[in-house]
Amino acid sequence: MGGEDTGPMVHCPICRRPAGRLHGPHTPEFPFCSPRCRQQDLANWAGGKYVISTPAPFAEGGEDRPPETPEDET
Ligand SMILES: [Zn+2]
Repeated sequence: MGGEDTGPMVHCPICRRPAGRLHGPHTPEFPFCSPRCRQQDLANWAGGKYVISTPAPFAEGGEDRPPETPEDET
């Protein structure tokens, strides 16, 4: 340990290249490695490439009652 720890290396989510330290000096594009990758990320969002995964849908209609517990405990 040298006291120069600036956190774990963060990799560009687009091209996986090292973009900088988590707590270190950042480029304006952080956590991207370059303006190009930052733009690519925006393009991905705009193009619907990223889909927000929704959890398993709950039944809408009062079907979410708790499982019946058998009363056979003696
Ligand atoms: Zn990149």
